[in-house]
Amino acid sequence: MISIHTPPQPTDLGDVRTANRAVVLRHVRLHAPCSRADIAAHTGLNKATVSSLVTELIDRRLLRETGLTENRIGRPATMLVLDGEPYVGLGLQVGADELVVVAADLGGNRLLTWRRAFTAPAVAPQETVRALAALARRAITRATGQGRSVLGLTVGVPGLVGTDDEVPLAPALGWRDVPLAAELRRALREPGFTVGVDTDANLAVLAEQRHGAYAGTADLVHLSGGIAPGAGVISGGRLLRGGHGFAGEIGHVPLDPVGPACACGRRGCLAAFIGVDAVVRAVLPDAGQDGPVVDYLPELDRIQALAGSGDDAVLTGLAEIGRRLGHGVSILANLIDPQVVVVGGHLAALAPWLLPAARGELAARTLAAGECRLEASTLGTAATALGGATAALATVEAGRLPAA
Ligand SMILES: [Zn+2]
Repeated sequence: MISIHTPPQPTDLGDVRTANRAVVLRHVRLHAPCSRADIAAHTGLNKATVSSLVTELIDRRLLRETGLTENRIGRPATMLVLDGEPYVGLGLQVGADELVVVAADLGGNRLLTWRRAFTAPAVAPQETVRALAALARRAITRATGQGRSVLGLTVGVPGLVGTDDEVPLAPALGWRDVPLAAELRRALREPGFTVGVDTDANLAVLAEQRHGAYAGTADLVHLSGGIAPGAGVISGGRLLRGGHGFAGEIGHVPLDPVGPACACGRRGCLAAFIGVDAVVRAVLPDAGQDGPVVDYLPELDRIQALAGSGDDAVLTGLAEIGRRLGHGVSILANLIDPQVVVVGGHLAALAPWLLPAARGELAARTLAAGECRLEASTLGTAATALGGATAALATVEAGRLPAA
C-alpha cells in the first residue's frame, strides 16, 4: 500500500481495529470479489474479527456483497467487493494554462473531470485560490447533489510543498510563501473535510501507482510535464519525500551551466530544456510573435502535426529535447534505480518523437544500462488531479471510518 503520510502505529485497541479495517479494505481492493473466509486466510486475521469488520464496513457502505458465490465444495460463500460509492475524494491541479478538478469514489471510479482555462503564472496567488475554490465548489455541489459526501480535497502544484501544506516556492507560478491549504480552506468557508496540498508530481505518481499502466510497481517515477517538470518518486513502495518534503526536484538539476535561463533564476536546469514553455519556444520559433504564449494546447497540436508530417526542423528540435530528457532521467536512474520512469503532460503527448532519443541518452549515461524503462503515461493530462482525489481518500483506506 502506498501511504502518502506516515501511517499511525497501533497504540490501543481502537488503533488496532483501524489498522485491521485498512487490511481488510486493501485485501478487497486488490483481490475482489473475495469471501470473508478468503480475507481471513490471506490476512492472518481470525474469522470472527473479519466477520465483525466486514459487517461494520458494509453498514458504512465501504464494502458490499455481490451475491456471487464461489463454486467449490462446501457451503457457498457470499462474495465482497469495494463499495465506497457514497464517498468522494476531490483532486485539483494547477497547470500553466488550466485548472483541473477530478472527483473519484473509493472504488476508483472517476466521476467527473472538469477543466477551466486559467493562466496562474500571470495572476496573484489569491486569484488562483479563488478560482480553485470556485471549481471545487462546483464539484462539491455535483457530488452532494448525487447524495455523496466529500471526504477530502488535495491540490497539486508545480513547486515546492512543505510538510505544513504551504508552498514556500513555485518559481514557474511566481509564488513564494503561499499558505495554500489554509487559504483554500478559508475560501471554502472551512469545509468539513481535509484540504491538502502536494506537488503535482507526487500526486501524479500516486495516480500512476494506482491507476496507470504500471500500477503496483514498487519502484516507480512519474516525471511530470508542464511548466515545472518534477519527479514523483515511489521507492520500495513508499513515496519519497525527503527531510522537508522537497524531494524530486529533478527539474532544477543543472545540465548545462551556459544553458537557457530557468524560472528559478539559474541557467541550464532540466526544466529550462524540457518544460512546455521551453519546448514551444525551441520548436516553434514563431510561437511568441503575438505576445507570450498563454495557451499551450494549440501549440502542442501544431508541433504534433508538424512532427507527424516529417518536418525536419521540428523533428531535430524534438530529438534534441529528447536527449536532454534522457540525460535528466539518467540522473534518476543512477541515483534511485526505478523500474520504470513514466513521463506525463506534454512529454507524454510528444513521446513518439522524444522517447527514442531519450532512451538512447538514458542507456548511454546509466551504469546499469537497460534496467530502467522509460515510457509515456497513459493517464492523460489530469493525472495530478486524479492522484489528488486518490490521496483525499487515503484516511478511509487507512482504516478510519468517514464521519457518520
Ligand atoms: Zn531551475
